[in-house]
Amino acid sequence: MLENQARIPISELGEFGLIRHLTENIQLKHENSIKGVGDDAAVIGNTADMVTVVSTDMLTEGVHFDLTYVPLKHLGYKVATVNFSDICAMNAKPKQLLISIAVSSRFPVDAIEELYSGILLACERYQVDLVGGDTTSSKSGLTISATIIGEAKKEKLTYRNGAKEKDLICVTGDLGGAYVGLLLLEREKGVFTTSEGVQPELEGNDYILERQLKPEARIDMPIIFEQIGVLPTSMIDISDGLASELMHICTQSGLGAQLYEEKIPIDPMTYDRARQFNLDPTTCALNGGEDYELLFTINADDFEKIKGNPDITVIGYMTDKNSGVNLISKSNTSHPITAQGWDAMKGSAQ
Ligand code: ADP
Ligand code: MG
Repeated sequence: MLENQARIPISELGEFGLIRHLTENIQLKHENSIKGVGDDAAVIGNTADMVTVVSTDMLTEGVHFDLTYVPLKHLGYKVATVNFSDICAMNAKPKQLLISIAVSSRFPVDAIEELYSGILLACERYQVDLVGGDTTSSKSGLTISATIIGEAKKEKLTYRNGAKEKDLICVTGDLGGAYVGLLLLEREKGVFTTSEGVQPELEGNDYILERQLKPEARIDMPIIFEQIGVLPTSMIDISDGLASELMHICTQSGLGAQLYEEKIPIDPMTYDRARQFNLDPTTCALNGGEDYELLFTINADDFEKIKGNPDITVIGYMTDKNSGVNLISKSNTSHPITAQGWDAMKGSAQ
């Protein structure tokens, strides 16, 4: 893009120039994206038997991301995919995205262009139309807000409150990797900021770094559910850690749960690096965050349909409310699960 050019201050393009610059090549992919960028509002068409799902997220520099080690392109990609993930968690398909930015004069045009190259790459990969947003200045730092619009058949939506007693608790992919990736980046941050010319030791850690810097949304799962004829009874995406998300399903469904530690899927690299940080890998999976996998429950009768699927692991089952939410450890003892959440973990790690 503008890599070899001098750093152009945003003031040179002005707000409208910047918007045009960022959005002029957008080609709309969906028939129901009737009007995208360029008017007072985007126009989204309705399809007869479909419902619209909407979600929004705001990220602030210094709170949600640290530009010392997060490249802007990755940040853009992540802003988009974590929003897509919320729509996937409803068993819906993300279709239109709006991005609002508040940006300080510290950022030249090419920095915002980098951010947008990540956003647009994610939109391309996930077949989502960027249809609008807002651009404004900030006194300091960068704030990004994303709003995602998706579509689903009403009867296929998966809420947090639909789990039933004896339902199986399932999770996609593996957990804890994004958190261990964050720990690694935080540890190497000193090297980024203090030792000029010294490269941080990030080699050989690709998987966990990607999990942190370039998370993917499980857009494949709604399609897989359709193919195998399973409709989860409840579903949520794992942004704050397994424990916290399971608590949401339990609270909203009015139930308890029993999880089995030995069943929780953890990638070998995550396991290994967690150990090096003197952390329990299971704790990273339970209380780390940002894995953006899906946690869902299914009727036990559907077990045969998901059995053997390499993307799905059964990790426990729903119980009555009075039994509480418990983890059966590898040594076969029961521990009550509390949702510590990602922020709490982050706080203690710094
Ligand atoms: P208004 O003054 O009505 O808010 P704007 O000048 O802010 O309009 O926006 C003009 C068009 O550009 C609108 O379609 C808006 O959605 C779009 N837009 C503004 N900022 C962004 C952005 N950061 N990313 C994508 N689209 C944007
Ligand atoms: Mg505006």
